[in-house]
Amino acid sequence: MSQYNYLIIGAGFAGAVCARRLAEGGKKVLVLERRSHIGGNAYDCLDDSGVLIHQYGPHIFHTGNKEVFDFLSRFTQWREYQHRVVANIPDGKGGRMQYPVPFNLTSLETAFGQEEGKRLGDKLIAAYGAEKKVTILELRQNPDPEIAAIADYVYEHVFVHYTMKQWGQTPEEIDPNTTARVPVFLSRDDRYFQDTYQGMPLEGYTKLFENMLDHPGITVELGVDALKRLELDGGAILLDGQPFSGQVIFTGQADELFGFQFGPLPYRTLDFRFETLPQDAFQTHGTVNYTVDEPYTRITEFKHLTGQVKPGVTTIMKEISKAYTGTEGETPYYAIINPENNALYAKYKAEADKFPRLHLLGRLAEYKYYNMDAIAGRALALADELLGD
Ligand code: FAD
Ligand code: UDP
Repeated sequence: MSQYNYLIIGAGFAGAVCARRLAEGGKKVLVLERRSHIGGNAYDCLDDSGVLIHQYGPHIFHTGNKEVFDFLSRFTQWREYQHRVVANIPDGKGGRMQYPVPFNLTSLETAFGQEEGKRLGDKLIAAYGAEKKVTILELRQNPDPEIAAIADYVYEHVFVHYTMKQWGQTPEEIDPNTTARVPVFLSRDDRYFQDTYQGMPLEGYTKLFENMLDHPGITVELGVDALKRLELDGGAILLDGQPFSGQVIFTGQADELFGFQFGPLPYRTLDFRFETLPQDAFQTHGTVNYTVDEPYTRITEFKHLTGQVKPGVTTIMKEISKAYTGTEGETPYYAIINPENNALYAKYKAEADKFPRLHLLGRLAEYKYYNMDAIAGRALALADELLGD
């Protein structure tokens, strides 16, 4: 009989938030994490040159959910940060130009010239309303020839090449909710997100996770593949060969949990190319999207995000997206959401549902495109449900 009430597999946002809430509800929780560190994909650390980097891609915290913000604020203070992104594209005259993404009224004036851009902006506002967000797919439906021309421009210069690089498919072929994350914005607001609460953990994400997991009811074991210790057998759950009478919260890949018995779920993975440069700064913004050319989708310069002051050195990272093959060392970062893949996922979910004490939670386990705040919110809700709130 185990001393633990809960086994949580994975120490990312899903696992760590759930662990803390359950421990505060008086439960004994064992967290097993395969990597050598906590934090999941939000993990950050100093690189060899002492620059604070995000090992698994740039993570910017933003939410409209006060409960999530208040909960996380118990484990970190926040650095005031509003993320701003620009598209960097050839200007057609041998140079390059930049304008805000999401494409907004300022982008329109940069692309079409001040006067013409203003006139077109007024026309879009007349059609959709000031401060409105319009998805690119919606904009492309507009029969007005001038609006259709703007839609074609934005499609060509912001969406189609970037989306091909990121997904290997066109904006029409991927889940419409994905491009809807970055709508055309009929505003001068050039922030990437408009959520009420935005910022970066003052001492980094890893420190936030250390504080969150620092509770007498929580035991964390790193470098442990939980699937080597867990057995799901005819409705029974075994941990280290013994019946486990507690609940299991699994935040890894659902297909892997069940031995890929229905075939592997498709994902996209990323190659992160880090470069440390002997200069104060490399680019104007935290993230610059290469929406027309270059093999990578975007370059992030971490010092903009973290606010770290470190003269004479900076670290940047280029992201190259490709199909996940399951090869050793590859990480599945993005579920590829479409009806066929959702149907395959549903088979794994049905397997999980045969075990009433097994819960799938998280971006991988639920095969969804969740931001950190969404996962934290789901983790709190699941823990409260299990605690009988
Ligand atoms: P994860 O962070 O993936 O954690 C799951 C953990 O489970 C991992 O540490 C894994 O090692 C562990 N695990 C898996 N299988 C096993 C096993 N068998 N045994 C033991 N451990 C196991 N969200 C935002 O809100 N803002 C952003 O700016 C943002 N940027 C992002 C950029 C990129 C490139 C990516 C890929 C994602 C981004 N996200 C962002 C999303 C964010 O990363 C996720 O919402 C969040 O990490 C999900 O947490 P999770 O716990 O579900 O998954
Ligand atoms: N996108 C695009 N051009 C951009 C930014 C985004 O085409 O400059 C599309 C692309 O398909 C991308 C999706 O919008 O996958 C969502 O972008 P977001 O920045 O939300 O992706 P994240 O990196 O946060 O997963």
